Order: sequence, then structure tokens, then C-alpha cells
Amino acid sequence: MSGLVIDDISMRFDLPNGTYVQALQDVTLDIKPGEIMSVLGPSGCGKTTLLNIVAGFLAPTGGETRINGHVVEGPDAERGMVFQQGALFEWMSVRDNVSFGPRMAGRKKSDYMGNVDHLLDVVGLQDFKEKMVYELSGGMQQRVALARCLANDPDVILMDEPLGALDALTREKMQSLVLKLWKETGKTIILITHSIDEALLLGERVLVMAPRPGRIHKEYRLPFAEL
Ligand code: ADP
Ligand code: ADP
Repeated sequence: MSGLVIDDISMRFDLPNGTYVQALQDVTLDIKPGEIMSVLGPSGCGKTTLLNIVAGFLAPTGGETRINGHVVEGPDAERGMVFQQGALFEWMSVRDNVSFGPRMAGRKKSDYMGNVDHLLDVVGLQDFKEKMVYELSGGMQQRVALARCLANDPDVILMDEPLGALDALTREKMQSLVLKLWKETGKTIILITHSIDEALLLGERVLVMAPRPGRIHKEYRLPFAEL
């Protein structure tokens, strides 16, 4: 299990016209192993930028992120990202999408196929594993994305509005699934959302950010609701 330290992160985007956007200013957070934290805030307050820095996709202009004491310097398998949509291989089967990570890591099929099957069970896609991703509904595609992320067995799961595009009923089912996975696996989870309800449901900690420059406005710690 991995804890995460976000240490005085700033991010400034220099624009071609000579001006700049201060997307983040002095953001500091200490996230314990196994914590689940949701992030709320108006558009443009730097939520996605913060997540991309933690994921290692973006290098901050100030500060650093550490996982178990190691400074994050680029993407790696310790952190898994679940995006709002896209990022799946639509012309590949569900099973090939989910097994993509371990396959690329050069692991033997016999080593990972059992786990891939198990994950397809967990997200309720066992009967759809031979289907191409483009054939599936939005909710099912999000379940594929979640299973694919879990197949890499990351310690920290980063979700950028993973459920935003779903209808209310499917979203509720996915929220329960995320909570169940969190409880069962003890993974550290950071989840961006636009929904206050979702933030309260899925956040032991709820971080509210403010824009211009992007920073932490307030943080709440909640007694956890049992499902
Ligand atoms: P949020 O996810 O909270 O909506 P973002 O992290 O996407 O916010 O963006 C924060 C701010 O940084 C916004 O003002 C946005 O326009 C700006 N920004 C994000 N990415 C870039 C980029 N690659 N180049 C320039 N500005 C950017
Ligand atoms: P949505 O995201 O559209 O709300 P769900 O992901 O909740 O849908 O799926 C609802 C159910 O619809 C699935 O469990 C499945 O039984 C059925 N379904 C959705 N897409 C397909 C498909 N391409 N082929 C067969 N059944 C499907």
C-alpha cells in the first residue's frame, strides 16, 4: 500500500502570447495509504492538472510528488489512471483491453489471465469479454476502464471524472463498485468529480479547490457512510 505526498506543487503554463496561466499554486497534501479522497471545484481550478502531475504525465513547475518516499518523475505502473471516457482500444475485445497492461509488461499469459478473468467477474463483464469495446454501452465501457486499470495492480488509482458521462442509475452502480473495490483492496484512490453527492459518497476526505490560481480552498473529513 502506498501513501502519497503532494509537496508544495505549483504549475504554470506559459502561453505563446507571452502571458501565463497559474493553474496550481502551493498545493500540499498528505494522503495516507488506503485513503479515498474526492476532489471538487469549479472548472479551471486545476483538478485535472493536479491529477496529471500525480500520475507523472506532467512535470510541475514547482514542488514534487512522492509515493512511499520516491519522487514521481514520470508515469509508471504504481499509479493507474481511469479517465472520463476514451482511452480504451475500441476495436479490441474487452478481454484484450483489460489484459493490455500485463501483456505490455511482458508477463506470461498463464500468469495474468486468471486475474483478468477475475476482474471481468468483479465488474460484471464476464459475458461480454469477447465483444469489441465499441459495441458496449457507456456504462460498460467505464467498467472495462476500471478493470483495465486494476489489471495493472496499481497502488494508487487516479480517476478523472470516471462516472461523469453516465446516466444516474449506471452511475450509482459504478459508485457502489468503486466503494466495494476500495474496501476490498485497500487501494489509495483520488477521484475528481463534479457531483457533490458523489464526492460525499466516495470521499473519506473531500477536497474543495478554488481557481485563479488553483489551490486548496477547504478540506473536509467525513465519517464514512456504510453502503
Ligand atoms: P479543471 O480540471 O479543474 O477544470 P484544469 O486542470 O483542466 O482544471 O485547468 C486549470 C487551468 O489551467 C485552466 O485555466 C486551464 O485553462 C489551464 N490549462 C490546463 N492545461 C493547460 C495547457 N496545457 N496549456 C495552457 N493552459 C492549460
Ligand atoms: P448503460 O451504461 O447504457 O446504462 P449498463 O452498463 O448499465 O448500461 O448496461 C445495462 C445492461 O444492458 C447490461 O448489463 C447488458 O445486459 C445490456 N447491454 C448493454 N450493452 C450491451 C451490448 N452491446 N450487448 C448486449 N447487452 C448489452
